Amino acid sequence: MAEHPGTKPFTEASNTRAAADTPAVHTFDALIIGAGFSGLYQLHTLREQLGMRVRVLEQGGGIGGTWYWNRYPGARCDSESYYYCYSFDKRIEQEWTWSERYPGHAEIRQYLDFVARRLDLLRDVQLDTKVVGAQYDDDAGIWTVDTEGGERFRAPFLITAVGCLSTANVPAIPGLDRFAGQWYHTGQWPHEGVDFTGKRVGQIGTGSTGIQVAPVIAEQATHLTVFQRTANYSIPARNRPVTAQEIRLTRDNYEDIWRRARSGANGHPFTIADRSVHDVPADERQRIFEEAWERGGLRFRASFRDILVDKGANDITSDFLRAKIRAVVKDPEMAETLTPRDHGFATKRPPIDTGYFETFNRDNVRLVDLKAEPIVEITERGLRTTRREYPLDILVFATGFDALTGPLLKLNITGSGGRRLSDDWSAGPRTYLGLQTPGFPNLFTITGPGSPSVLCNMPIAIEQHVDWITACIGDMRAQGLTRIEAERDAADGWVRHVNDAANATLLPQASSSWYLGANVPGKPRVFMPYAGGFARYAGICDEVAGDGYRGFARS
Ligand code: NAP
Repeated sequence: MAEHPGTKPFTEASNTRAAADTPAVHTFDALIIGAGFSGLYQLHTLREQLGMRVRVLEQGGGIGGTWYWNRYPGARCDSESYYYCYSFDKRIEQEWTWSERYPGHAEIRQYLDFVARRLDLLRDVQLDTKVVGAQYDDDAGIWTVDTEGGERFRAPFLITAVGCLSTANVPAIPGLDRFAGQWYHTGQWPHEGVDFTGKRVGQIGTGSTGIQVAPVIAEQATHLTVFQRTANYSIPARNRPVTAQEIRLTRDNYEDIWRRARSGANGHPFTIADRSVHDVPADERQRIFEEAWERGGLRFRASFRDILVDKGANDITSDFLRAKIRAVVKDPEMAETLTPRDHGFATKRPPIDTGYFETFNRDNVRLVDLKAEPIVEITERGLRTTRREYPLDILVFATGFDALTGPLLKLNITGSGGRRLSDDWSAGPRTYLGLQTPGFPNLFTITGPGSPSVLCNMPIAIEQHVDWITACIGDMRAQGLTRIEAERDAADGWVRHVNDAANATLLPQASSSWYLGANVPGKPRVFMPYAGGFARYAGICDEVAGDGYRGFARS
């Protein structure tokens, strides 16, 4: 796909830089970092609703956020296309046509490109511009943002739209630097693609990404070795083309679709069945599970209301899925290695797949159980475990992300009185509503830790945050206020509530989950997203705003 012709960085010729050691300073009403779903919509609302002068600073060479970077083969969204999109513009809704049940990465970029052109967003997006620092000046009430290219931007409001899963986690395995083959992280996939033909490929990681990429690599490569640390559940996606009738139906019913998505727990338009796993006779339960399995996708989780809150209900559900693995994978030993035993279904983010377990029936695919033979090192020729060396030409890291906090901490943010976000969050993120952090006035974090974010269909979570932030800034301007900062007590209370909400579910029990930061060595173990449900969360945000922005100090 062609790159987006967004604004390129300012050049010497286009600014008024006076001396080589004095960075050019560009002043705006608001700065947004990131040009994915969230940054683009935030730009649109601030510009069109509030008439603000806004600049979006984007590290990538194009818009798209997560979909700009995640171009690995098989990358597609787990939310269905008809609701993995914006809901704020009726024209766009009626004009855009998705081709598949689950949108692939290229089609999502095409969609965002269509939206950006339709709304004339690109003129305010500056590409190839990596933010390396942001400091708040208390006296001036201004954020100063520095870029890797030496530019400086200033604005009273700073809004991060950096996504939750944008900081690649490449594990520090000794020897990577001497590997003679090529290696790639799925979240930084080369735009020109990777040709696996005739290659022996090793893949580390079996999360949502690993489960998507393995079947595609296996089809192309001479040989694929999957290095698995933790076995995972997966539901078939049952991807297929969208029919003309479905397109008509969704277009005619968008109002209802969005109403349902916003009134649920996860921003999906399907409702969670109001029945307990325990209340249904075993044969009826089996029928319900089979039906959900055949329909495919994340909706499987919604078959019963107690899968994520009741250990017994979860055990029964997990057993159904374990049996499915045994039914698909022909080699019983391999099937057992692929069967998750250490966590319940959906307590880690559940993947959906296209032929994942079937891949292990192929002659050219091998599974290595890293629990039985941990990785020792990467060698010049391949990868060595405690048992043997596996010769490889290409190594693929599907090892995930430093989720939620990683993308924010790498911005090097310094707030009021010189406090550093990395210090304030050293024991885990401390936000109020996931939107603001005490000590960081006028800084808003779209889908920040402490908000539903990754537990949600992302566009719904993003729109709710963007609308709230826009209304908040609009209210400040209407009242002649210039500064807003979350109060410490409010944030402390919110952190307690986020913990309570997580503890009311089985989610914190998956000890190796990235929701807890457990995938990154040294990261504090804190449950980061808000598990109390999207509708409840949005209701709280509305109440706070309606109550004069309770918990925020405004002046
Ligand atoms: P992930 O869920 O964190 O999975 C990473 C995998 O790498 C895990 O199997 C992990 O094992 C393994 N791993 C990490 N470090 C390792 C090491 N040092 N040695 C061996 N194995 C190691 O990451 P992801 O699959 O990229 O997915 C992240 C999230 O992105 C998903 O949960 C989802 O929210 C999102 N995503 C969405 C889609 C979609 O919508 N279609 C697709 C892909 C990703 P452990 O489990 O033992 O830590």
